[in-house]
Amino acid sequence: AKKLKGNRAILFHDELHQHLERRLYIEEKLKKAADNEEIFFVYQPQVDGRTGDIIGFEVLSRWKSRRFGWISPVEFINIAEESGYIADLTKKMMKESFRFFRNIREKFGFEGFLAVNLSSKLLTDEAFITDFKRFFRETGLSKDSVEIEITESVPIFSSKAVSRNLQLLRQEGICVAIDDFGTGYSALSYLHDFPLDKIKVDKSFVDQIEKSSRGEALLKSILHLADNLNIKIMAEGVETGRQRDWLIANDCYRIQGYYYYRPLQMNEVENLFQS
Ligand code: C2E
Ligand code: CA
Ligand code: CA
Ligand code: CA
Repeated sequence: AKKLKGNRAILFHDELHQHLERRLYIEEKLKKAADNEEIFFVYQPQVDGRTGDIIGFEVLSRWKSRRFGWISPVEFINIAEESGYIADLTKKMMKESFRFFRNIREKFGFEGFLAVNLSSKLLTDEAFITDFKRFFRETGLSKDSVEIEITESVPIFSSKAVSRNLQLLRQEGICVAIDDFGTGYSALSYLHDFPLDKIKVDKSFVDQIEKSSRGEALLKSILHLADNLNIKIMAEGVETGRQRDWLIANDCYRIQGYYYYRPLQMNEVENLFQS
């Protein structure tokens, strides 16, 4: 029995070591995010389900590592937030996606918006906000063609600084959406405390459609809530025609999900407009 215990300890030690090694490697690479050519960006269309028209694109980060293969954004965004490199990573994302998107708008006369994920942490980072505004000037993308999706990495509670910054961004024409509404820290108090234009309902609610009557009732309540507060609403993670039909019947016509499109590479986005 002693021996077994010893082996398990070695195994555990090994796993821990591998875990730490991966973590350190990812941190090291994030430190130089700007030059990390393994990180790139894909664009998932957001659709008006009534017409099938594309109304916008959400930019999502991807990392194909020579060392570890695909690393999920859930993993590396998390590490970037914890280790303080999220500002650099977000700046890289904005620089590249703004430039690409300005070209798409110019080349194809596309009038929809670009939705970018913004960690709530960055909303109180004045240096970041200054850079963010500079990217509009540098790339020539107009502010009213960008929407920020605020993701809840850290609870933002009723921070005065956050609501002031959100208000300033909105005044400049940037649309503010709350991401993954109904999960994590993202709570009803947000609707009260923060100036918002849009709610993105999390996939976990969409998954309840035609599965659970309580789940459906909850989703309906969120839709009514948004409607009463004059806040726009979008559903994410829509995978089936039945989910789409249900949402449209309940007046939630802004839809994102594999049912319509998966996240696309830049050339695939161009092909969409060319065909
Ligand atoms: P999110 O913002 O909720 O983005 C939606 C996620 O769901 C994306 O996963 C997308 O690929 C996936 N998805 C979209 N439609 C469907 C569907 O119909 N079915 C299923 N099963 N999945 C669908 P992804 O790209 O792996 O990103 C995961 C999360 O990582 C994002 O969740 C977002 O919170 C974060 N993230 C990704 N890129 C960035 C970034 O550049 N900055 C920040 N701050 N966060 C990012
Ligand atoms: Ca998002
Ligand atoms: Ca989301
Ligand atoms: Ca989500």
